[in-house]
Amino acid sequence: MAAAAGLMCALRAGQHGRRVLVLEHADKIGKKILISGGGRCNFTNLDSRPAAFLSANPHFCKSALARYTQQDFIALVEKHRIAWHEKTLGQLFCDGSARQIVAMLLAECAAADVEVKAAHRITGIDKPDRFAVATDQGVFTSASLVLATGGPLDPQDGCDRLCP
Ligand SMILES: Cc1cc2nc3c(=O)[nH]c(=O)nc-3n(C[C@H](O)[C@H](O)[C@H](O)COP(=O)(O)OP(=O)(O)OC[C@H]3O[C@@H](n4cnc5c(N)ncnc54)[C@H](O)[C@@H]3O)c2cc1C
Repeated sequence: MAAAAGLMCALRAGQHGRRVLVLEHADKIGKKILISGGGRCNFTNLDSRPAAFLSANPHFCKSALARYTQQDFIALVEKHRIAWHEKTLGQLFCDGSARQIVAMLLAECAAADVEVKAAHRITGIDKPDRFAVATDQGVFTSASLVLATGGPLDPQDGCDRLCP
């Protein structure tokens, strides 16, 4: 699913040598990113740390944040020459537009040979052997699968969930 979590996961998997396909049902990529932070995307927080997250499994957060920190994301933003500023409480926003963050994620996906297919709605998943992902445009198979469908949303944002 081609939004914040799905694209980030895809580009990192691609960078680690995996062959990755991202399936997204919307025709426009990263709709929620575009409206985030009032259109300027509050892309990370200087004070991001495990204790700042609520989770049923706090250990997941520790290992995830140890492997990829807010400083890593800031370095990525700077590599793409996206100007940013700090607001209150360590919140970092683009000076320009959240569109820059979507463009950055797509550019990193392209550089890692990640294929992104918009307008592909996933309708079901089976795993007879490999994963078989059914979409309204056909079936795709893979050895691994990441679901990044986001949360239930305002229909204005154009997202839905896999489960009916
Ligand atoms: C108004 C607003 C402002 C926000 N501001 C900020 C902010 O400034 N900073 C911040 O950190 N967070 C902000 N958030 C929260 C942030 O946008 C979300 O936490 C984040 O975008 C979630 O990303 P995600 O990839 O997990 O999910 P989503 O963005 O919900 O992405 C899920 C994707 O899955 C796709 N999908 C769903 N079902 C299917 C299917 N069956 N087949 C194919 N594709 C499917 C959807 O189309 C979507 O693209 C804001 C949210 C809103 C609504």
